[in-house]
Amino acid sequence: LTQALRTIEEFVVAVRPGAVRGDEALAMIGLLARFERAAASGIALLSPVVVETGAFAKAGHASAPEWLAAVSGSSSGVAKGRLAAAERAAVSPALVGALREGELSPSELQLVTKAAASAPGAVDSLLEMKAQGAGHQELSDEAARLRCAARCAETARAQRARVHQLRHLRTHQAEGGGIRGEFFCDEVVWARVAPGLEADAKARWKAAGPQRESLDAYRLDAFVDYLAGRGSGGTARPHTLVLVDAGALQRGTAEGGELCEIDGIGPVSVEAAAELLGEGTVQFIVRSGIDIRTVTRSTRTIAQRISVALIARDRCCVVPGCGKRLGLEDDHCQVEFGKGGPTELGNLARLCGPHHSMKSHGGWRLDGGPGHWTWVAPPNAPTAGRIARERKVAVAKATRNRPNQR
Ligand SMILES: [Zn+2]
Repeated sequence: LTQALRTIEEFVVAVRPGAVRGDEALAMIGLLARFERAAASGIALLSPVVVETGAFAKAGHASAPEWLAAVSGSSSGVAKGRLAAAERAAVSPALVGALREGELSPSELQLVTKAAASAPGAVDSLLEMKAQGAGHQELSDEAARLRCAARCAETARAQRARVHQLRHLRTHQAEGGGIRGEFFCDEVVWARVAPGLEADAKARWKAAGPQRESLDAYRLDAFVDYLAGRGSGGTARPHTLVLVDAGALQRGTAEGGELCEIDGIGPVSVEAAAELLGEGTVQFIVRSGIDIRTVTRSTRTIAQRISVALIARDRCCVVPGCGKRLGLEDDHCQVEFGKGGPTELGNLARLCGPHHSMKSHGGWRLDGGPGHWTWVAPPNAPTAGRIARERKVAVAKATRNRPNQR
């Protein structure tokens, strides 16, 4: 260990960032990140020994979290979380194995051990996902789903009561100026307003043209207008989509990997979802296997039916490891729309904005199909700056060609 440490320290002292090319830096960081992960795994494997033996006191520390915080330069809250995860991992052979292989980062380890505490079987299914290349967001979504499914109706009810009791909206002036805020509320409550805000923000983003700001910025504008009673309201009302597996709906609780989820918000108990039944703007999609069994409210056009089926199929951006759920765009994945690509399920996939842009303007390609997508690089993959420039040119061109269209 001492030798390895010296090697890295020498590297860090010697490296001249100004003389390193972008792709060289990329490769170096790839290796350094593996060191980081391996080191974190070692800490997770060994720290229970320090806790058990009380060796931290010998070094002058009052508690184990205080000791780990001091040696790793983190807050004691973070150290506490790491120690708890390490202790839970120590009793799981599968997790010890994953740590030895250097497969899990500290935050992934915490995510898995936390899920495992309430959902037995979570370790295996999450490690399996990780082995297949799932990213942090995908793991975190699946962990939330498993935890939600493991809760019995009683605890789900108690949890919602707790959330309701702790609900709040707090704002304060930030240090550098500006108002910062935070809110906390029940998923069902949020499901009644979030789709409207999201649709409004997206419409503003689309209308803004090539100089557009981030979707987050337009979310805030939509939010403020909504609070001031100036919500857009004009266009067709957006729908809250609830996706639920037929089995879960029959039973009243979701089990294992079953789905009961408010689109764009996250998993909820079947009981909570049922509160939204019958509300005018809420659409229930009942899934059986990969088939859509029922869609409440009549979807009038084929396009609508396809878009609903697409949302049920692609729960997040389909690029492996991405996992983004908000602001997804429909992409004609095999044959482009402009080249006569059909608008049918087999030719569509949902992508997040940045990945959609990489595909449309950076030459990246989607291969495979649902459940086995691969993200294929073009021969000479462009940098982020180059893709952004290409996108700006394309947007400007499109605006010029449609001068009368808003
Ligand atoms: Zn993505």
